[in-house]
Amino acid sequence: MEKMRILDSHTHMPSIRWKKNTDFFKSVSAAVDYLKSTGVDKAIFNTWQGVLSETPEDVDEGNKEALEMAAQSKGFLYPGVSMNPDFPEESLKWLVRFHEFGFRWAGELLTYKIETLKSTCKYNDPAFVKLIEKCAELKFIVQLHVEPEIVDLAQMFPKLTIICSHIADDDFLNRLARFNNTYLDISGMGGGLHIGRLEKTIEILGTDRLLFGSDFTGYDPQAFIGRVKKTVPDTKKQNDIFCNNLTRLMASVGVNI
Ligand SMILES: [Zn+2]
Repeated sequence: MEKMRILDSHTHMPSIRWKKNTDFFKSVSAAVDYLKSTGVDKAIFNTWQGVLSETPEDVDEGNKEALEMAAQSKGFLYPGVSMNPDFPEESLKWLVRFHEFGFRWAGELLTYKIETLKSTCKYNDPAFVKLIEKCAELKFIVQLHVEPEIVDLAQMFPKLTIICSHIADDDFLNRLARFNNTYLDISGMGGGLHIGRLEKTIEILGTDRLLFGSDFTGYDPQAFIGRVKKTVPDTKKQNDIFCNNLTRLMASVGVNI
């Protein structure tokens, strides 16, 4: 039997040159080596400077280094573009550049500030919708940190595939379930790790709409791999979560991952 591939749909790479860098890993190669040692075969990522950008320079630098890291990784790292509604010009410039390189993933995107946990812009604000409109036009898959307004975007853009990152409460999951263009990655925060939450998510969304994800370098993928194996003993369904659901989504936008 062919070895089961594990694709991590949600990771971030350390931005070593960034002045706000606090990563445990002292280099990108140390982070990649660790990630590989956990059993992950390929990872979608953006950089911490990109995802937590606070200036136009962060958007520029975060995306530039992501493309460099992807090239150096020889196919192990698949880059997602980082965008920030506060800096639409830079964001759209990088979206187009990623598109030119053949990449079709945006995210993880978030709009809150890590220090205050306060959001400067909701996903249904015009400034953010404008970015998503362009993602839809260029046939990107969009991965968004969990917020209630994800369902508004799912409704606004029925042909856009939206990945919600992290397992939220049942109410939200039930609302998400109504939109067939939404998926969920089980990464990070407590939801993917607390006993009972992945089980409940499968009950609500089914295994076909789940993607494996960890939020590395914030979390250790082994913990999430363990949860999936324990919760989903059926190897066909395990394969769907670890790999097939993502490859199917990527194929839908012309990407072979
Ligand atoms: Zn994340």
